[in-house]
Amino acid sequence: MSRMRVLVLGRQGAGKGTQCVRLARRLGVPHISTGDVLRAAVRAGSELGRQATSFMEAGQLVPDELILGVVADRLQEPDAREGFVLDGFPRNLAQGQALVSMLGDDAIDAAVDIDVPNDVVIRRIASRRVCGDCASISVAPDPAVPAMACACGGRAVQRTDDTEFAVSRRLAIYEEQTRPLVHWLSSLDLLVTVDGTGSPDQVETRIVDALRLAVAPAAEASGELVS
Ligand code: ADP
Repeated sequence: MSRMRVLVLGRQGAGKGTQCVRLARRLGVPHISTGDVLRAAVRAGSELGRQATSFMEAGQLVPDELILGVVADRLQEPDAREGFVLDGFPRNLAQGQALVSMLGDDAIDAAVDIDVPNDVVIRRIASRRVCGDCASISVAPDPAVPAMACACGGRAVQRTDDTEFAVSRRLAIYEEQTRPLVHWLSSLDLLVTVDGTGSPDQVETRIVDALRLAVAPAAEASGELVS
């Protein structure tokens, strides 16, 4: 029995990254975040990073051709053959359709939409700090605190695209471009919507319960969603 292939969607600040790390660990599959891949490319100064950086800082999506190449390469690596948790991809209908043509019609087991109201995500993003070493998220006690220590010993700082301007741009793009993808996934019967308010543990429990219902009995029988 193959491992699960899950997409995770949600507005910026909905907790996608945190939940994807937990879900991937639980399922024993890689966590593939297109945002993390692009930020690493920018830090490394590669050609991909050079092409992506201006789009990212402006809060725009990088062009589909660029991101599709990144995802196609990553999904061909051996660890992703049996399953994955995709974080931040697809982001629009064209990317969703490209993913299905890349992997086949029954490529995706479920798409989880983590739903959090706009005012909550705006507050969360103002306090979000990301570790330069391990990429995990810390919450600043006060939005005015620019940097803090990460549990790994690294330094967690505000992302350069977490400015008020870039965030409002990304939220608008989410409504314009990701909403149609969400409707399409729902029409394919793949969408599970989960309330993303509350603590990370509470949201994790909701996601696991929703996935159990969505993919039961196959995953349940194989014990993939272990607690
Ligand atoms: P957020 O969800 O807060 O926007 P991400 O880390 O997922 O953060 O993405 C950061 C930036 O990387 C995006 O604003 C965009 O410029 C780029 N990006 C990430 N994933 C994609 C994608 N699938 N398509 C196009 N651009 C992407």
